Amino acid sequence: MTTEQIAAPINAWAVAQQQFDRAADKLDLDPGLRRVLRQPRRELTVHFPVKMDDGSVQVFTGYRVQHNLGRGPAKGGIRYHQDVTLDEVKALAMWMTWKCAVVGIPYGGGKGGVVVDPKKLSRKELEGLTRRYATEISILIGPERDIPAPDVNTNAQTMAWIMDTYSMHVGYTVPAIVTGKPIALGGSQGRNEATARGAVYCIEEAAPHLGLDLAKATVVVQGYGNAGSIAARLMAEVGSKIIAVSDSTGGIVDPNGLDPLKVLAWKQEHGTVQGYPGARDITNVELLETPCDILIPAALENQITARNAGRIEARIVAEAANGPTTPEADAELYRRGVFVIPDILCNAGGVTVSYFEWVQDLNRDFWNEAVVNAKLREIMVKAFRDTLATSLREEVDMRLAAYMLAVERVASATSTRGLYP
Ligand code: NAD
Repeated sequence: MTTEQIAAPINAWAVAQQQFDRAADKLDLDPGLRRVLRQPRRELTVHFPVKMDDGSVQVFTGYRVQHNLGRGPAKGGIRYHQDVTLDEVKALAMWMTWKCAVVGIPYGGGKGGVVVDPKKLSRKELEGLTRRYATEISILIGPERDIPAPDVNTNAQTMAWIMDTYSMHVGYTVPAIVTGKPIALGGSQGRNEATARGAVYCIEEAAPHLGLDLAKATVVVQGYGNAGSIAARLMAEVGSKIIAVSDSTGGIVDPNGLDPLKVLAWKQEHGTVQGYPGARDITNVELLETPCDILIPAALENQITARNAGRIEARIVAEAANGPTTPEADAELYRRGVFVIPDILCNAGGVTVSYFEWVQDLNRDFWNEAVVNAKLREIMVKAFRDTLATSLREEVDMRLAAYMLAVERVASATSTRGLYP
């Protein structure tokens, strides 16, 4: 099953605005504030040339969007994907604003993307593309202004190239320009696992609330990259059984349980999870509908929609991915009693440890992994409990509760600062 077959023609930006509107309605937000928060502050589109290995010059399109800077500099990842659009980047930037506010870290929301299938580029071409894209968006980014991080198809090496490019421009080394860097360049211990670890901390909080024993729970994971493969490993470590996983090529299922590390080794060797010995190949559609206790979407947007929400047979949907569930699907899941841990809470571990990395870089003072994980747990548990308390008090689903907390915080910062000039 290809990405094209999976991705429904749903506009992520329309979804993001719809989610915001719901919270704004519930909060009875001032109409002026609502108009401000409903739009991104800045949208940059760049078309830039890259010299390819065959000597030709190709022009690529990239974006950097800053949604809101009320609570601090913009923060958000950079995505490389053939289907990236400006609307998708706008949605991801808005979600970053709310995410940083839910966990209470002092950032606004940003996001970047380049329209490219990185699997079709050589390492040299990818480095050239990354350095030129970083140069083009350097009018927006900076350690005090906008700090990128990895997202789909970008990683610590991508961040190293961006850090080096920016540092060459200014003439000295600026580790705090990006997070998710290699440890040797000022990266943080625990950053690589942070998104998945934060999601698992949320699941560990949700389980007792729902009377679910994680040692007996079954888990299905969609997407086997940074967020998904590590979530599978960490869930196995808490004793749950990983019964199905997938990547962009399709999925595998084994009711007896998969070994997440062996599946990862298989994927690294064969480029796909499919064909894994002892498991049965399934499509991504079947994967999402596999009965389980915990479903972890960790791929792209719009995977759980009005079309399949009625067939999701999970007790918990833990959104490691951004925007995997549409508003229509949300309503259906809520109606059916499926407990959704929304993206802006569930995957906020990534940006939280990115914040730790930035603080460590600025202070030139580095922490060990136990310190990082303990601080991460404290922040995630508090954010989860605040959201759950709001959800119970207001009798709303967890997404609306998280949005209410986040939008209220951003609105309060924005209105307290006042309107310039
Ligand atoms: P990644 O590139 O490491 O992995 C993405 C995975 O998804 C790959 O295994 C890919 O094959 C798979 N995939 C792509 N299309 C798919 C499809 N249609 N069906 C099934 N699988 C598909 O990316 P990542 O960093 O793990 O990001 C995954 C999600 O998590 C994204 O929504 C991202 O925005 C979100 N997220 C990531 C971070 C982070 O720190 N990396 C933080 C917060 C949120």
